[in-house]
Parts: sequence; structure tokens; C-alpha cells
Amino acid sequence: MPVSSDQYKKLMSVLEERRADALRRQEEAFDEVVKRSPIFAEMESAIAVDHAERVKALLRGDEMLEDRLLSQIEDLREQQRVILAGLGYEKDYLEVHYTCPLCHDTGYKDGRKCRCLRALEAELLYDASNIREVLEKENFGTFDMKWFDRTRRDPATGRTPYENMTENHRKALDMATDFVPGRKNLLFMGGAGTGKTFLSNCIAAEVIRQGFSVIYYPAATLFDRLADSAFGRSADEREQIFGCDLLIIDDLGTEVNNSFVNSQLFQCINERKMRKRSTVISTNLDMNQLRDTYSERVSSRLLEGYDICRFFNPDIRMLKRQLTPGR
Ligand SMILES: [Zn+2]
Repeated sequence: MPVSSDQYKKLMSVLEERRADALRRQEEAFDEVVKRSPIFAEMESAIAVDHAERVKALLRGDEMLEDRLLSQIEDLREQQRVILAGLGYEKDYLEVHYTCPLCHDTGYKDGRKCRCLRALEAELLYDASNIREVLEKENFGTFDMKWFDRTRRDPATGRTPYENMTENHRKALDMATDFVPGRKNLLFMGGAGTGKTFLSNCIAAEVIRQGFSVIYYPAATLFDRLADSAFGRSADEREQIFGCDLLIIDDLGTEVNNSFVNSQLFQCINERKMRKRSTVISTNLDMNQLRDTYSERVSSRLLEGYDICRFFNPDIRMLKRQLTPGR
């Protein structure tokens, strides 16, 4: 679920708190330094006086005086730096340390949502959809190749599931590492329990970690949401689905198919392509079934814009159940 305006207000108050915290910490740091070095405080007062004098000189057009005051201020600042270092502090100890150095905890940079705000939104969305717990278990750190058969070769490709998964894993890692929205799209094709959802969760976890906005929907839910928003109930939601940095559509082909679904899927894929956003789609359908289920323009968009990863393996969920009894 995309963030509502109430949720947005909450996020803005989180940022406000961060700003207030940063300023409070700076004041505390200043008080601490002054306590240890009263002369530091005297210099600070002298600088304030010089600044005021400088403004007056500026207004009078007295450039000589202005220059003299400026170099006086610089001298005092330099002496303060020496004192600070002498007390064992870092150079930037008295600067304001914002949580996000990009936007100084305002949430916006150059008129656009900063990465930190998008990350907060993503966090909220993931909290709301209970997927956080899933991502703690399913990520590149917990991905285990031991579940993939190294002996039996797939007759069509001549590769073992292990070799095949190594390749898929590499493509997923390529996409997620130093994520750039729009650089790559993946289409995961294969039967149930072959690791498609696990691998898309790995990508999601990594991309969220880097602070990008990620939305995950099973196909049926996605089309429900798009239907809601198409009829004006939540236009924000449509914007989020089309505009988030990474959209994951799970289990495409399991939804009830009709012309509405067809046109929405095309619009979604097309819009995301134009906005340079990345999408991962997983499906149990093969290429022919995709073509039969959706329009030609959908399948051709997928063919030209998506790197296809095929998945084949005995059902991993079954294997895990057999090998770890009692779970
Ligand atoms: Zn920021």
C-alpha cells in the first residue's frame, strides 16, 4: 500500500525530529567545548561582535574595515580549530550532523524527494505489508545454492539446476548491486517452488537497504490496486506503482485475466519503461503461454526490455520439508 497523506505527515514529523535532534546535539557539543575551554566561548563572542561590525562596514561601503574584520574572524576561527584539536575533538565536531547529509533532514533535494524520504516511505510500505520479516529471512546473505541439483541436466538447455541458478543469481546480484532504477528489468520464468520469489526477495532486500523505494505485489493484488486507482479511489497508489524505483510483480498469470488486466499490465510496463524504473516479474507461464494470455504488445515489451531468467529445479519447498523434518 502506498503511503497515505496521514502517513506522509508522520514521515515528515520523523524528519522534523531528526533535524531538531541534530541541532540539539550541536548545541550540546558546543556547551561541552565551552565548559572545557572558556576562552573558546570568548572567541565565539568576539566573532559575533566582528560579524555585526562587518555588516555595518558593508552598509557604509567601508571595504578596508570590512576586509580587516573578515581576516580577524578567520584568525579567531583558526585559533578555535587549534583549541578544538588540542582538546582531542574531530574538526567537524561543532558542525550540525544531520542524519541525511544530502537534504539536511528536510526530505527534499533540488525540489525532489530525497533518497532518505523515499527510504522512509519504503520502510513504511514494507511494515504495512509484513514483508519486512520475509526479507530478514530471504536475502542474498541467506541464499543457499545447496538446494540446487548439480547432477541432472535439463534436456532443453543441457544445464543443471545448479548451473542455471548460479547464472540467475548473478543476474539478480548485478541488478541489485549499486542499484540504478531503469538500468535492468528481469523476467523470472519457471514452475512453483523453483526459487523465483526467493530471488526477487533478495533483490528487494538489497535495493531497500540502499534506500530506494520498492513495491512488491502478487499479480492479483496489483491488478486490484490498479482497478481501485483507475476508478479514482486512490490516485496516489497508481503514482506509486508506476513511479517506485523497483516494482516486483509476483506470480503473473495467476490473476483472473480479462481485457482490463491486459490493458493495465501494458500501461504499467510501458509507463515504468518511460520513467526509467526497474521491474522484476515472476511467472509460472512460459513464453508461449504469456503470448496467449496477454496481448502481443505486452509480450513484445517484455521480450525487448527484460532479461529472461529461466528457473527449473525440483520443488525446493518440498525438498526443505523432506530434509528438515519437524519444521
Ligand atoms: Zn535526505
